Amino acid sequence: MNVIIFGPPGAGKGTQSRSLTEYWGIAHISTGDLFRNNIANETELGLKTKAYLEAGRLVPDDLTISMLEERLQEPDVVPGFLLDGFPRSEPQCVALERIMSDMGRKIDHVINLYVSDDVVRNRLKGRAGIEGRADDADLEVIEKRIATYKTQTRPSLEYYRPKGVVHDVDGVGTVEEVFDRIIGALVRT
Ligand code: AMP
Repeated sequence: MNVIIFGPPGAGKGTQSRSLTEYWGIAHISTGDLFRNNIANETELGLKTKAYLEAGRLVPDDLTISMLEERLQEPDVVPGFLLDGFPRSEPQCVALERIMSDMGRKIDHVINLYVSDDVVRNRLKGRAGIEGRADDADLEVIEKRIATYKTQTRPSLEYYRPKGVVHDVDGVGTVEEVFDRIIGALVRT
């Protein structure tokens, strides 16, 4: 099973992705985590991408797509994978389509976790203290990430609507409630 999870920053994508991938026994691929690991290890990719993460801007598509393509060659993706934070732009959707076709696979489900801007702002402020992410602590960066989600990432969701694979799920509630909603939505298809 190959799944994408969409949602604004702070929607709970990371938390739900960890539970869902454990439940389904599939690989969790978070492009944000991959970038943060590269930055922490001061790799060439990390040095090239650090400024984008700090500013809350999208990393250029070529760097992001090649990183994802490489990750999808690892053996743990064989049973399936959940993409958390990818695709985030139209060129990334097109690239994913090509990668899937090269792999002889397809996207089975797209989860759209929706929450209001105010919930996002409050959750990110809370998370900044817990996870120590600099991009959660700066109000200007938070606003930039919300705006980037609306202008660049949310339209990507529309790429999948005509394919009939999108499940809209309310992201407000406890972690368990939202998890049950997601599982329920997918079971009904
Ligand atoms: P996230 O952990 O998903 O909130 O991602 C943190 C940051 O990593 C984003 O604000 C972007 O700077 C960068 N990033 C993650 N995924 C992507 C992507 N698919 N395309 C471009 N930039 C990304």
